[in-house]
Amino acid sequence: MNRKNILMFLLAAILCILPLSAPAEEEAVSSASICMACGSKMDGDACPFCGRVRGVWTCFNCGADNLSAYCRVCEKNRNDSLLDQAFCGDPLRAWPAVRLLAEAGDGEALCLLAEYYKTGLFVPQDADAVVRCYRRASKAGYDRAYLFLGKLYDEGELVEQDKFTAAEYFQQAADLGIAEAIWYLGVYHAEGVVYEPDDEKALELYVQAGEAGDADSWMSVAVCYAEGKGTEQDPYEALSYYEKAAECGSADACDYLGYLYMTGEGVEKDEEKAVEYYKKAAELGNARSMMALGHASLTGQGMDSDYDQAARWFELAALAGRTDALEAYESLR
Ligand SMILES: [Zn+2]
Ligand SMILES: [Zn+2]
Repeated sequence: MNRKNILMFLLAAILCILPLSAPAEEEAVSSASICMACGSKMDGDACPFCGRVRGVWTCFNCGADNLSAYCRVCEKNRNDSLLDQAFCGDPLRAWPAVRLLAEAGDGEALCLLAEYYKTGLFVPQDADAVVRCYRRASKAGYDRAYLFLGKLYDEGELVEQDKFTAAEYFQQAADLGIAEAIWYLGVYHAEGVVYEPDDEKALELYVQAGEAGDADSWMSVAVCYAEGKGTEQDPYEALSYYEKAAECGSADACDYLGYLYMTGEGVEKDEEKAVEYYKKAAELGNARSMMALGHASLTGQGMDSDYDQAARWFELAALAGRTDALEAYESLR
């Protein structure tokens, strides 16, 4: 052991004895050895895959590589940069930050890490790891993790389908005020899954979920009035709940209202109003509405006929994942 190593050893020993004053999470983040270039775990001082030195982070704001807590070019804080990167919505760019924050015990990042284990991107597909991530996240106080666990057992794609376990997790999430979980419990009551079929209870839960902030739940309330389930059939009340869902930001409700006004189904046909609803839905990311706007631009329904505009809508719909939009787009080029 040379002098430098002995000093490092002594320093390490002192650090182990002294109570650390830094907050626990902060310490966990800085001690996590995840390569910020490729997301690999590092045992030594360099990444075994890409060679990057331990602790080097790339600023998500300006792209500069740094070692200190603040970016030397734009002064962005390291942790803020990590959070921006982890939640940027692009799984490729987010990966190293997601892994690092998850390693440090961040509940939301753990739920993102679960998505990688689901798809097998960067890590082997692993159902047990998905469950572990969600459980750790729920223990870390990230309440939505209970909803994700419920959905996992409800879908039964990665783990064996188990509606009873799903219902327990949905109930836990619902007790913590997670609106979407309340909606799931409503569906279970409506369909007689786990619980006795009970349309009135289902409607009550849909309303509760809507009031708790799940805009799509007002769609389910509307369907109850449209079909007379759990309440008297009332098409006007149904329409008013579709509108309420749209006002609350439900893309599906905007898309559906667009369809109703375009076709005049159950409402007075109003193509301009339909286009307004389709545009609102498209802004919220609804690909079906983008497609509908493409067709409306071609035929001049509710707007002037415009082939270039139609191509742009089809392009957006294709970018949002609609393969039929790709065909429509290519036919106009
Ligand atoms: Zn690396
Ligand atoms: Zn920077």
